[in-house]
Amino acid sequence: MKMKIKIGDMVIIAFVLMVTVIVYGVNVGRHFVSADSAVVVVSVNGEVIDRHDLSEDCVKVYDTDHGHNILEIHNGKAYISEADCQDQICILTREAEMNGDAVICLPNLFSLEVISGEGDRADAVSQ
Ligand SMILES: [Zn+2]
Repeated sequence: MKMKIKIGDMVIIAFVLMVTVIVYGVNVGRHFVSADSAVVVVSVNGEVIDRHDLSEDCVKVYDTDHGHNILEIHNGKAYISEADCQDQICILTREAEMNGDAVICLPNLFSLEVISGEGDRADAVSQ
């Protein structure tokens, strides 16, 4: 018994494979650019100490060896609302909301940065 594959069948198989790859690719792409998956990464002295979902409002106090900072997240924007540093530049810094935006408090070695596309990992860390 011979296997008979017609040109037409080949075309259908190729088409189905192509569609599968395209659909998969689009879903993966959406996952990585989704604003919902943006997280705020909090670092002190270059070490990541905390992560927050940018889509969830919160107020969090950080008292570290280097100083006192309060992080607030409201309406998808993260900022430092209070700090005991001399210059207070961190409080005057524009709110972080886009991928790569950062607020840095140099005297306290405290920084927060918005990073998108890490939704799954952020969930794993926060739970
Ligand atoms: Zn500061």
